[in-house]
Amino acid sequence: MKGMEETVEIATPKRTKEIIQRHGFSFKKSLGQNFLIDQNILNKIVNAADLDESKGALEIGPGIGALTERLARVAGPVTAVEIDQRLLPILGEVMQPYPNVRVHHGDVLKLDLAELFRTDFGTVDKVSVVANLPYYVTTPIMMKLLEEKLPVDSIVVMIQKEVAERMAAAPGSKDYGSLSIAVQYYSTPELVCIVPPTVFIPQPNVESAVIKLKVREQPPVEIPDEAHFFEVVQASFAQRRKTISNNLKARFFTKENREQADQLLEQAGIQPSRRGETLSLQEYATLSTVMWEAGVRAAL
Ligand code: SAM
Repeated sequence: MKGMEETVEIATPKRTKEIIQRHGFSFKKSLGQNFLIDQNILNKIVNAADLDESKGALEIGPGIGALTERLARVAGPVTAVEIDQRLLPILGEVMQPYPNVRVHHGDVLKLDLAELFRTDFGTVDKVSVVANLPYYVTTPIMMKLLEEKLPVDSIVVMIQKEVAERMAAAPGSKDYGSLSIAVQYYSTPELVCIVPPTVFIPQPNVESAVIKLKVREQPPVEIPDEAHFFEVVQASFAQRRKTISNNLKARFFTKENREQADQLLEQAGIQPSRRGETLSLQEYATLSTVMWEAGVRAAL
């Protein structure tokens, strides 16, 4: 419109190209830089996060701010953590109209998130993590967010489709593994939508998905020791074609006490000939409890 400044969303091919060209920005594949250029997908992400002004949003990897801008319009405080220093002047410019946005420079994996929550989200009761994640570090970032038991209400993220399917997989399916159990121990996952490569610049080589993890207030099962529980789970999937009995023997038992493995499995109500991928979260909890109470710990 003549004489009036048009507000054009960042997430359009034209505006994104204009911003990156004006700043002489070049994409770094090694940092998982695939920027969103599709309004429809952004709507789906932001709607799934169910934000309002009483809630905070933590974004990991804002890029040039396509999602950040949307979050800034609907949420209370928005904090974005970006590793690539070259993006900071761009973010400074595009986020100028949004005083509720703070951008931190750094690697989210090295950041003290508990401290960040205290400083940036002290005024709100609920915080959601909302991000189009860099795919090369999806799992470490997700596990950090879940394991550190931060006051996070939900996590809505764009990730590689296969990883999303593994997170949400049910026992017995080919995608079910230790990642499914870890994610489902801390949260309830829900696949929001599948996303084609065409909604990014540059396009990734894989399909993507938006997944929402509603963080649990309490774990769904009782276990005596989390580290031990996850060791049992890891060991059970060490070799997918082996039975659970053989996998446990390799990790927890010596030649002398190998028969104890099958006795403990029977005691937990699990047939030793089953494979790790058929056990439910509850069955893993029972198994780790029985092993813990019998004093069985991983062989060093
Ligand atoms: N949010 C933007 C969007 O949707 O268009 C960009 C998403 S892009 C997939 C991932 C972003 O994460 C990039 O901006 C990248 O520089 C940043 N990033 C990569 N590794 C990071 C890390 N360890 N900590 C923080 N940010 C990271």
